[in-house]
Amino acid sequence: MHRRLAIGLVSALSSFVVHAESVHDRWNLADLYATPSAWDADAARLQGQFGEIAACRGRLASSVVRFKACLLIFDDARKRLERLQVYASESHNQDTTVDSGIDLDQRATVLRTQYDEARSFVRPELIALGAKRIDAYLARDRTLAVHRHELDDVLRGGAHTLDAKGEALVAAFGATADVPSSSYTILSAADMPWPKVTLSDGTTITLDQSAYTKYRAVRNRDDRKLVMDAFFGQFKQFERSFGATLYGQLRTDSVDAKVHRYPDVVTRALDREAVPVAVYDTLIEQADAHLDTLHRYFRLRAKLLGVTDLHYYDLYPPLVESDAKYGLDDAKRLTLEAVAPLGPDYVAAMKRGFDERWMDAYPRPHKLPGAHMAGSAYDVHPYVLVNFNDDYESVTTVAHEWGHALHSVLANRAQPFASADYPIFIAEIASTFDEALLLKHVLEVAKTDDERLLYLGSALETLRGTFFRQAMFAEFERVVHAKVDRGDALSGAAMTQIYGDILRRYHGDAQGIVKIDDVDAIEWAYIPHFYDAFYVYQYATSIAASSLFADSVLANEPGAEERYLDLLKAGGSDYPYELVRKAGVDLASPAPYRSIAARMDRIMDEIEAIESRRSGRPG
Ligand SMILES: [Zn+2]
Repeated sequence: MHRRLAIGLVSALSSFVVHAESVHDRWNLADLYATPSAWDADAARLQGQFGEIAACRGRLASSVVRFKACLLIFDDARKRLERLQVYASESHNQDTTVDSGIDLDQRATVLRTQYDEARSFVRPELIALGAKRIDAYLARDRTLAVHRHELDDVLRGGAHTLDAKGEALVAAFGATADVPSSSYTILSAADMPWPKVTLSDGTTITLDQSAYTKYRAVRNRDDRKLVMDAFFGQFKQFERSFGATLYGQLRTDSVDAKVHRYPDVVTRALDREAVPVAVYDTLIEQADAHLDTLHRYFRLRAKLLGVTDLHYYDLYPPLVESDAKYGLDDAKRLTLEAVAPLGPDYVAAMKRGFDERWMDAYPRPHKLPGAHMAGSAYDVHPYVLVNFNDDYESVTTVAHEWGHALHSVLANRAQPFASADYPIFIAEIASTFDEALLLKHVLEVAKTDDERLLYLGSALETLRGTFFRQAMFAEFERVVHAKVDRGDALSGAAMTQIYGDILRRYHGDAQGIVKIDDVDAIEWAYIPHFYDAFYVYQYATSIAASSLFADSVLANEPGAEERYLDLLKAGGSDYPYELVRKAGVDLASPAPYRSIAARMDRIMDEIEAIESRRSGRPG
């Protein structure tokens, strides 16, 4: 029942460029609420609805009329809550120091908690009602069909739900379930004694998390080696502590899975969206089967950087350096031109969003960093936040976030509220699909080889980071969770051993492709996502799916465009694996993974062709 409010990635802190910002570059939150007092009035209405929700308690079984009336109240309250939350969180995000935004954000969080409490009886009551009774209701009143998937999803959980006493006990112990991850956060973000290092130009820096992401990418090789060795070296000092926090998380997850009658954590985690475990295992197996492509990438990187012994600390400097400038208008124009293969309706809806101020575009002091899209204000429209920095990376970010936005536009238009919201398993398909279209378009309009190299290099890095790196994390998660599920002990040193083996295989250490130093194998301790079991794999499966969708749409395969748009319009009307499969991509088969490897190979073919053209040697 948890609905995601915003989808996005928080990137490294970017420096602020002073822009002549106009009102047109800011979003118009007044589309949600014309005045702050309109927000207050709607919040009061929501609070009134909590009483109506409470009046449904114990009454869902009384009649089909009552049943339907209650479902409508639940939906209307949730729709109102989402709209209140988008306004509150985006008011806060546009300037995190303004008191009114902080106040709204806190009030919205309280409303969310009150809403969750008010309807906490619904799930157990529906499960008690049972499939037979609910099917009879659906047969008696056809208008209930819009709730079919939602109800099916709740009933499916019945087999894994304990009696009231059992669930109360689980909830009571659950109060301590976040101790491993909160201990991890405090240790890795606050308590770590960050080392100081002196760079080749004489400046001394404190190497904390944000300094690491900045300085690991510097051009001077000695500096980035120094930075990575010192940063990972510090994590290595705390290997035992990080081992204890991660082991605590894995044990908590394992007990939770078993208490809810799942054989293991992976089955429980994927069952939330009814994703077959075969999808996960196919991803790992197929990423491994295509390591040749990844190794080719590393060889190309070594060549472009001009080094013969590529190390792990050589992986972050940009593949292609460029100071080419791209304005916000360029980003909008290129994105609109790029998405033309999706048809005039898609293009017109995006243009409308650009024209009608759905986006907050430029960085400002105290604005939330990174980029995200909030699409859950069902009756209004999506909102997009980016920190546009006048470079090509910013152009790709615009295409990515607007891919999310159009997904919400199409789903909200085609689906009733009950089935509009789509899960993360599908979300990153819509965004990375538009990035694939952008690449094709910019290569067509590029005038110089410098431009082409910039576009190809950027796309290659995205595919590598989103597919292979996340698949590598997915394999580590699979191995360590399986060990703990079996009851094995697992120390920090053992985790380093497991991670190091996977890291060396992925990077071709034995073949001399990338040299993995012993200290690099502590990287697992730096990755916060391992505290969120079996989550990041969805980035890898999504970009593989969007690659195959893009192949068929761009090849003008009959019906391909329609099937893809139907997937977006389907929102959350069925289980996500099924929706993607019906649209033509089976993520439990090798095809999407072959597609993404072939895509990377084609990009590398083009980069190598340009490089050999430039050096005047035949390819
Ligand atoms: Zn995204």
